[in-house]
Amino acid sequence: MAVMMTKPTRIRKAMKTADVLEQYGRYVMNTYVRSPLVLVKGKGSRVWDLEGREYLDLFPGWGVGGLGHCHPWLMKALRGQAGRLFHVANTYYQMPQWKLARALVEASFDGTVFFANSGAEMVESAIKLARRWGHAEGRHEIIVMERSFHGRTTGALSATGQPKYQEGFEPLLPGFVCVPFNDLEAVKRAVTPKTVAILLEPIQGEGGVRIAGDEFLRGLRALADERRLLVIADEIQTGMGRTGTMFAYQHAGIEPDIMLLAKTLGGGFPIGAMVAKRAIADVLAPGTHASTFGGNPLACVCGLAVLEALEKERLLERAVHLGGVVLERLTAFKARCPIVKEVRGRGLMIGIELSVDGRPVVEECRLRRVLINCTQERILRLLPALTITRAQLDRGLDVLEEVLSQVEG
Ligand SMILES: *Cc1c(COP(=O)(O)O)cnc(C)c1O
Repeated sequence: MAVMMTKPTRIRKAMKTADVLEQYGRYVMNTYVRSPLVLVKGKGSRVWDLEGREYLDLFPGWGVGGLGHCHPWLMKALRGQAGRLFHVANTYYQMPQWKLARALVEASFDGTVFFANSGAEMVESAIKLARRWGHAEGRHEIIVMERSFHGRTTGALSATGQPKYQEGFEPLLPGFVCVPFNDLEAVKRAVTPKTVAILLEPIQGEGGVRIAGDEFLRGLRALADERRLLVIADEIQTGMGRTGTMFAYQHAGIEPDIMLLAKTLGGGFPIGAMVAKRAIADVLAPGTHASTFGGNPLACVCGLAVLEALEKERLLERAVHLGGVVLERLTAFKARCPIVKEVRGRGLMIGIELSVDGRPVVEECRLRRVLINCTQERILRLLPALTITRAQLDRGLDVLEEVLSQVEG
């Protein structure tokens, strides 16, 4: 029987951006808002498009590029492992997986690690772990925050405190109670005999670089201890040195019970990790949770290379230093630019809240060869590589300030 296939379109020798966009239009599901930019090469904070134009990337890989593009140690680790063994099923043991688990525990708190492949999967894992832990007592409710973002799978979507992402996908997974961010009293009021956990991002990323106050985090920890609740820190965007500490919860001097990582963890290779305190993790007995690709050796050697680069290149200190430079400069700029309402951030996680739509600013920056992001329509977001040079950062800010100066308020 003949296999039905659409006739493949002939690919011309020298494709142009417009040709690639056309192929996407035909064959790739149209679920993303994309800039008309085809990237073919990257090095550190620089990327090149199909026509050879160079861009400065202040938002590499949507928060994934903590080490920038194609960091040499990452390339070396990946190539070395690729020549030995690509994949090992989790019915066997392998070397990179325990090494990365140990390194993550040593960098955070005493616990054990479950690996999967993306952020949303880690949120799913945490929901399952919390439910299993509270199951005997009939506790399953998880308190989540308004304007949070936890991913697009059905469970993670249900945990996300933004109705705009949920509309049309109901019924959602039940058991989430949403409260205002940074409001400890609201969290206290939301606790019921069915509550098992509190899930939050120490700094909301997609929600607009909104920082959980240290007092709020300490208050949550005390409340959780008093009511025997789990604190689940979604560090998927804030982890791996982004905010100047390895994990953002460390600014508040607390420890969560469960921590979720993805994005920069693999430096671009898909990997996610859930670190949980031992007594909690133990409820996920063999056979209760799994992922075919989870903890794949290629992914784990990338994670190890990221950790090694963060340490050897002293990138946490760099994030603190460069983050200070950016905040100081943009705060001074704010005084001269009426459309800038607020500048906030920690380390190299920066939000610039505007009084106008930020999306044309992103477009104009792209035309001037600088890549940034806008979230929540009015908040520009910068997540530059921790390896970015001072000169690159200054040049990126020159362009951004120039563009913002020309926007009419
Ligand atoms: C990106 C992100 C997620 C979802 O990660 P995916 O890999 O896209 O599934 C979850 N939580 C936070 C805080 C994120 O920034």
